Amino acid sequence: MSIEWDAGRLNSDLSDVAQDTFAVRGGQHRTPEAEHGEPMFMTSSYVFQSAEQAAASFSGELGDVNVYSRYTNPTVRVFEERLAALEQGEQAVATASGMSAIYAVVMSLCSLGDHILVSRSVFGATISLFDKYCKRFGLEVDYVELDDLNAWKAACKPNTKLFFLESPSNPLAVVADIRAISQIAHAAGALLMVDNCFCTPIVQKPLTLGADIVIHSATKFIDGQGRCLGGAAVGRAEHMKELTGFLRTIGPTMSPFNAWVFLKGLETLHVRMKAHCQSALELAQWLSQQDKIEKVYYTGLTDHPQHELAKSQQTLFGAVLSFEVKGGREAAWRFINATRILSITSNLGDTKTTITHPATTTHGRLSDEDKRQAGIGENLIRISVGLEDINDLKNDFERGLSSI
Ligand SMILES: *Cc1c(COP(=O)(O)O)cnc(C)c1O
Repeated sequence: MSIEWDAGRLNSDLSDVAQDTFAVRGGQHRTPEAEHGEPMFMTSSYVFQSAEQAAASFSGELGDVNVYSRYTNPTVRVFEERLAALEQGEQAVATASGMSAIYAVVMSLCSLGDHILVSRSVFGATISLFDKYCKRFGLEVDYVELDDLNAWKAACKPNTKLFFLESPSNPLAVVADIRAISQIAHAAGALLMVDNCFCTPIVQKPLTLGADIVIHSATKFIDGQGRCLGGAAVGRAEHMKELTGFLRTIGPTMSPFNAWVFLKGLETLHVRMKAHCQSALELAQWLSQQDKIEKVYYTGLTDHPQHELAKSQQTLFGAVLSFEVKGGREAAWRFINATRILSITSNLGDTKTTITHPATTTHGRLSDEDKRQAGIGENLIRISVGLEDINDLKNDFERGLSSI
């Protein structure tokens, strides 16, 4: 006896569900076996029923069907659909890493002689990309203080094509007024691109604030467990079409295995981010009451100078916080070395809490003068708060403090 099953139920319309529900259930591409988990299509290419079908697939007559995994892959597509829904963007395009997403946006939307404005405190490799490689190929790049609206305005030129920023900044938690900066960009005929890796769409949705393109390093919170490298851009279909064309030609696309890991990551992202942010807020409040702490940088503290701005564009305050201990490099290193649970690493966005000394790692290449200007002190420590029990984290911080 065969059991009838209702294909309609298995592929039900999800157009009216909440984004968190779509992140859990959206974008399924089931095989006839109707598996519950998302299948991983580990294939470089696809076969056709006939020469006619192959020809129609290659010519585009059949739409965007799968012909080769540098072009499309069903597992990668599920990840893209879920991420686009969370960011409230028309379309997402997955890439091999966060850096290749930034690179692909620049290469597909800019041309020789275009001008790009970049906020001063961005991820180290992003600065190398703009400063070393983009300039070498004839793009003009200028840097602007993230929170200085007049500086963004004043730096615009007739050939300004892109604005690029991260908010809140790393590691000092300066907040960009995304609504205002998007208006300045648009008045100058430029697009605003926001690296939303620290916040994720659970905390901040830059496209709803006026940004045109969102960038992700999926390597961080989207995976959330330190397994894979990946990235994505999200935005309007007209821009994503350019990006797709570039990626299909050059090839830094996402592997189906990594896409499968990331799409599982998106299913739990809302739960993880709420837990990360709750612990980060508690730790920031606790740290700011300790005598041996000079200053805490976290937008969730009510005395953060941009607390209200952060509240107006974020639902939570993020999982990354920084603080200065009393003393210099030696005190900071003693604190770091005295912790027992925290991982000493420059990485972030993991279930495991990480601790970093920016002045000698992530920002180690800056000159002393540049560090001073950027506010990266020798006594500064950055934490990406994980999912361990909050009391164990406090105990580890206590060990750090008592070593100073
Ligand atoms: C890690 C990171 C990137 C780069 O991402 P990869 O996946 O390592 O290429 C870009 N921006 C920010 C803010 C990051 O933290």
